[in-house]
Amino acid sequence: MIKFENVFKKYDNGVIALSNVNIEIPRGDFVFLVGPSGAGKSTMIKLLIREEKVSGGKIYIAENEITKLSKYMIPKLRRNISVVFQDYRLLEKKTVYENVAFALEILGESKRKINEKVDYALDLVNLGDRKKDYPSELSGGESQRVSIARAIVNKAPYLVCDEPTGNLDESTAWDIMQALKNINDDGKTVIMATHAVNIVNKFNKRVVTLDNGEIVSDVKEGGYYENN
Ligand code: ADP
Ligand code: ADP
Repeated sequence: MIKFENVFKKYDNGVIALSNVNIEIPRGDFVFLVGPSGAGKSTMIKLLIREEKVSGGKIYIAENEITKLSKYMIPKLRRNISVVFQDYRLLEKKTVYENVAFALEILGESKRKINEKVDYALDLVNLGDRKKDYPSELSGGESQRVSIARAIVNKAPYLVCDEPTGNLDESTAWDIMQALKNINDDGKTVIMATHAVNIVNKFNKRVVTLDNGEIVSDVKEGGYYENN
């Protein structure tokens, strides 16, 4: 379970990005985070991964209050919650397999375990047959799926995506959504910030709408009807 309790965020320049945000996201949920540009979506994500600190309130992931984690515990937090960004951030000189394996190699896992986990992650994003390709040989959608495989390969229970389809056309975006659906069906909690109205409306999952730093609606199996 992820929980935001009266979360308030004011940046150093005085901008209030979030005020009084309260939300609970149970294990296994799929949640869209929508709202106009500047509403506070990225800020919520940055607070969750402790890229930014709250100015007030508390955030819990499972029973851990991440808002009071000391700096040296942040790497441990990142093993529980992984992130996918709009740009893919792949290592150009490494193959698809190596890009995904890299995170596990740093953790010192055995070659056999790494093989197992990388194959599993690449199958979930339907790229099991592209292991030997380099990023330059991939389309945008394929690149994003590699970055998703890399994010989930360490088996973190939470996956957060910030505009993962932002650079992609709609048909390619659906490949990403299929991958995220597989990952959610596999038991992970998925939180996706997006502007992609069509996707949100057709995907029929929980929709949390932010406006001007506040949650203005939260619907189970909702849609994104606004014109933004
Ligand atoms: P969204 O992701 O919904 O577009 P953001 O969370 O990026 O919204 O931004 C929320 C508000 O906080 C905006 O007014 C934005 O300009 C401001 N903001 C975001 N990041 C920073 C920052 N690092 N410093 C100052 N203001 C910021
Ligand atoms: P084994 O020695 O047990 O056969 P390998 O290291 O040869 O294990 O690889 C097992 C699986 O991982 C195979 O599916 C292989 O294609 C894949 N694999 C391993 N290393 C790489 C790599 N650097 N690039 C692409 N695929 C790899």
